[in-house]
Amino acid sequence: MSSYKETHKRSILEREGFWAAEAKRIHWHKPFTRVLDYSRPPFAKWFVGGETNLCHNAVDRHLKERGDQKALVWISTEVEKTETYTYKQLHAEVNRVAAMMQSLGLERGDRVIIYMPNMPEAVFAILACARLGAIHSVVFGGFAAASLAARIDDAKPKLMITADGGSRMGKVIPYKPLVDESIRLAEHPPAKVLIFNRGLDLNMPLVSGRDVDWKDLYSKTAKEPVSCVWLESSEPSYILYTSGTTGKPKGVQRDVGGHAVAMAASMPHIYCAGAGETIFTTSDIGWAVGHSYIIYAPLIAGMTTILYEGVPMRPDAGVWWKIVQDHKVNVMFSAPTAIRVLKKFDPAFLKQYDLASLKHLFLAGEPLDEPTHAWIAEGLGKPVIDHYWQTETGWPVLSAMHGIEKTAIKYGSPSFPVYGYDLKLLRESDASEAGADEKAVVAIEPPLPPGSMSTIWGDDERFVKTYFSTFSKKMVYSTFDWGIRDKDGYYFILGRTDDVINVAGHRLGTREIEEAVNMHPNIAECAVVGVADQLKGQLPLAFAVLKDVAKKTTSQEVMDTVDKQLGAIGRPKAVHFVTLLPKTRSGKTLRRSIAALAEGRDPGDLTTIEDPGALQQIKDCLGVK
Ligand code: ATP
Ligand code: MG
Repeated sequence: MSSYKETHKRSILEREGFWAAEAKRIHWHKPFTRVLDYSRPPFAKWFVGGETNLCHNAVDRHLKERGDQKALVWISTEVEKTETYTYKQLHAEVNRVAAMMQSLGLERGDRVIIYMPNMPEAVFAILACARLGAIHSVVFGGFAAASLAARIDDAKPKLMITADGGSRMGKVIPYKPLVDESIRLAEHPPAKVLIFNRGLDLNMPLVSGRDVDWKDLYSKTAKEPVSCVWLESSEPSYILYTSGTTGKPKGVQRDVGGHAVAMAASMPHIYCAGAGETIFTTSDIGWAVGHSYIIYAPLIAGMTTILYEGVPMRPDAGVWWKIVQDHKVNVMFSAPTAIRVLKKFDPAFLKQYDLASLKHLFLAGEPLDEPTHAWIAEGLGKPVIDHYWQTETGWPVLSAMHGIEKTAIKYGSPSFPVYGYDLKLLRESDASEAGADEKAVVAIEPPLPPGSMSTIWGDDERFVKTYFSTFSKKMVYSTFDWGIRDKDGYYFILGRTDDVINVAGHRLGTREIEEAVNMHPNIAECAVVGVADQLKGQLPLAFAVLKDVAKKTTSQEVMDTVDKQLGAIGRPKAVHFVTLLPKTRSGKTLRRSIAALAEGRDPGDLTTIEDPGALQQIKDCLGVK
């Protein structure tokens, strides 16, 4: 076994050789002639001239060896259903849906917006697009009509696919009327809308000439297989809009070949998993994590993937661990926000089921604070790996890579730069490299590795301007995150670059202060923002959610906890207690909006907020209208 350091070094110094070897993990219909074309920086073309197909790699390729193995298991605690599809059955369904799409006039390069909850038909539709060379853009089912309309106008889809509705905490959420409204608002509406009626008892009038009933078309479509369309490696496979935490979602465009190789390589190296094993990724298919680790990577690797529709605490806070036990899950992938939800419940739930099959729990999406990391790792008695990535990168940028070397885990750290990423911590002032323990901008020296975004859909210029123009002296990719590397080489993400607080000349990441607040035993989670202060420049302000409201907790106690961890410099000006924090629908705290309210400014674009009631609580604490 080589060390992770050697592997990482080789991936940068012998970039082409490294990726040529990894590229053998997938099937190429036609071999590539060049590993990398970097003649037009910062645009990288991987595996030039090679032809492949994502659906072939995810489905067809496994038929011979594992046709009867489970490929997809759908578990819905919302509608109380479980459905299982073997690779053979998945193949049949995907082919049928591909034929349905063809009958609706869909061709290679056409865009398809998929607006569906976590349900098997969404997976079939995604893979059917890949099969036909159509470009899917999955939009998270929680977005409102205006957000959906903005994405329709950007992607200009020929077809939209939706369901009658979704369900959350047992409450039905209608999708179809929202789709109708978004199409009314859009300037480039799709010609056809395909609707899967799940039977949620919603009154759903169809628009004649436009709306097509899935089940009706399914029954009329022949079972004949549909050939995979072989695509050149750098053709687009999909568009996915970022979460919109900073208010402006960007249409991330992914390629075909680089994406397939990155997915295939990450399974053994990072997730320590392979063919025949089972993965349970709790994400929504509408997020990058869902694309990569519910669908593409597990299926390309020949695994069984679990698609879950539901929340982590219903019917009770043991539901996920019961799934691990019942389905002998080997790898699990979730988000810190979910673990913080579970933290409000009895830790006995973590011990209630037999978790022998589980090797690792991976978490990503937000900083994983040390107390939460310790709570879940010790509660489960399993290694919990925090890893850091972005919709843009499509797979981890910082992670432990236990498939390469079993490095020790440090709580609160996503460990080290992943192979392929020439990661740098750069000083904002002059783009020079920061030393150990020095806070700086997390940046990536281009070219970006396979699987990372190729451009912003339809806007090469915006791609360069958005991501590669932070430093005037150097064309590097900025993550817009703030980080630090300790003396042992472990990295820590301190928050977004625009979340950094300047207290009397000291620069503090919101995350550092949040971490200190979370050290108080009765705090489940918190958000810290910087507000303008005449004397000190900025001061931190904290909003905290208690684990147990019945236990008396004062703001002074919390301030003392921060003093102990960080010193008085990090002490919040005030600590407000709330029952809910304003978050995006992907579970990320909207610190920007909170800060704006605290400074009497407009909270900005709130279309991605999960529960507007949370913002009201903040307003009430601050006494603003
Ligand atoms: P937008 O770019 O539209 O504002 P977003 O950045 O929230 O949205 P994502 O791509 O879903 O959209 O999120 C990536 C961001 O999430 C990272 O840049 C980082 O701020 C945060 N993040 C992800 N994983 C981690 C992690 N393990 N530790 C700390 N932060 C993380
Ligand atoms: Mg972002």
